[in-house]
Amino acid sequence: MSDNTMPVIPVPAGLDTRCFVLGEGALKYLPQLLQQEFPGATPWLIADTNTWKAAGAEAEKLLIAAGMKPAAAYIFPGTPVLHPDFAYSEKLASVMPENCVPVAVGSGVINDLVKCAAGLKKLPYCCVPTACSVDGFTSAGAALAVNHNKQTVKCPAPAALCADTSIMATAPGPMLSSGFADLLTKVVAGADWIIADTVGEQAIREDVWQLIQGNIRRWVSDSKDMLNIFEGLAATGYSMQMMLDSRPASGSEHLFSHVWEMEGLQKDGTDVSHGFKVGVGLLATALLMEYIISTPVKEAFAHAQSVLSTEERSAEIDKLLVKNCYGAEPKKISLAKFKTGNAAAQRRELIASVWEELGAKLSKQLYTFEELRAMLKNADCPVTPAEIGLSNEQFLHGIKTAQLIRNRYTVLDFLYEAGLLDEAMKNLEKMMQ
Ligand SMILES: [Zn+2]
Repeated sequence: MSDNTMPVIPVPAGLDTRCFVLGEGALKYLPQLLQQEFPGATPWLIADTNTWKAAGAEAEKLLIAAGMKPAAAYIFPGTPVLHPDFAYSEKLASVMPENCVPVAVGSGVINDLVKCAAGLKKLPYCCVPTACSVDGFTSAGAALAVNHNKQTVKCPAPAALCADTSIMATAPGPMLSSGFADLLTKVVAGADWIIADTVGEQAIREDVWQLIQGNIRRWVSDSKDMLNIFEGLAATGYSMQMMLDSRPASGSEHLFSHVWEMEGLQKDGTDVSHGFKVGVGLLATALLMEYIISTPVKEAFAHAQSVLSTEERSAEIDKLLVKNCYGAEPKKISLAKFKTGNAAAQRRELIASVWEELGAKLSKQLYTFEELRAMLKNADCPVTPAEIGLSNEQFLHGIKTAQLIRNRYTVLDFLYEAGLLDEAMKNLEKMMQ
């Protein structure tokens, strides 16, 4: 490869993201990338004081040296920590220069703010990540608080990315650990998709499946290999762009994390990173799935609870939602998917009939709980509820509540419909010593 050839990683066709440059020292290709993908547009760098130091200032120098005339950069304060608030995106959109290409220089929050602002102005943008911390760099939609309510605001993924591993290597260590944990969730998220596919709730889409599951074991093989991990996180974003849905990237482990987030989870007064929450979540998911793998169908169903009446279920849901911090949706969603009478009986029959075949599929898809825990520990990620600030009680409460909050079919629905969720949750003891 000659020095002037951009280290381009192929991107599946037909996505918002058209060009992905990844490598050590890749920032030097930013001028070339912008000229190629956004001809004639004025670069407009957006950063905070930290990411400006890490990459923004150098990027501006490179653009000027290449004869480009970047607009005056927009730099947020680095402290206090910038919150992903929709109001900042509106502000960015309102001051966005004419005929520009916004260039987000940052980790998750800056990218989400710029992604949304560019979406508001219907302009394609470029992202220069400064940490290898989440899979959201390449996904459509931005996770923002709109009037204090965290939601995914619709907007296109970045049209181009310029990811320099030597810059990302300067980010604090826990950010890479967090990115590794988020990537490792794709193993259990895939297993949740297998469950949904097996009971006919959501079919596996083969091309999307291959993009992630065909490569995941390679991507998670070394928790310090940033090139490999960022490639995996980026591909996860593409898979969501292809599906227009987060199914390929997110299963029950992400649902746990959403519940803990809504409950305002903090550890020693600070927010816990996304990756660390879903990392603990993925261990819980793995243990619930190990119950299916290791319990013969007859033995399992000997413990099944009987199906509740709608009134009983409604009371059970109210009890789980007693903290009142989850909004109105979970009650509606969980009652709508609750099965009674014939539908409930048929679902149980189906579950019993696929139980052992499914156990074999899950065992093939998953690493064991011990293996997953060792991988997370080795990557300096927390592996117990206490390490992310959860009491055992709050941990267990989150597992049951997570089944209520979304329509995504996971191991939680499967076990609940079988009348075996409480029984399977006994396995979680292994995480709570
Ligand atoms: Zn995630």
